[in-house]
Amino acid sequence: MSLSPDELKELARFVLRTRPDEIGCDDWLGYAPSYAELVAALQPIQEPLQQAAEHLDTCPECAEEFRALLAALKDDGAGS
Ligand SMILES: [Zn+2]
Repeated sequence: MSLSPDELKELARFVLRTRPDEIGCDDWLGYAPSYAELVAALQPIQEPLQQAAEHLDTCPECAEEFRALLAALKDDGAGS
């Protein structure tokens, strides 16, 4: 397969825009349980969970998922 100059330019723009340490939704799901536990316990977020926090800023879908996860965690802890 060969790319035209225009396609190469497009590809370069895409690569430059994406930071190498950015995680995807699949990676985020892997971090989500530990990250939610730390947030629910008001613990400091450390690497690599910082990346999970950053992903939530850029991905509304995972942010929504995270809210649900956090709510479930809090319900769980509040049982009397
Ligand atoms: Zn996501």
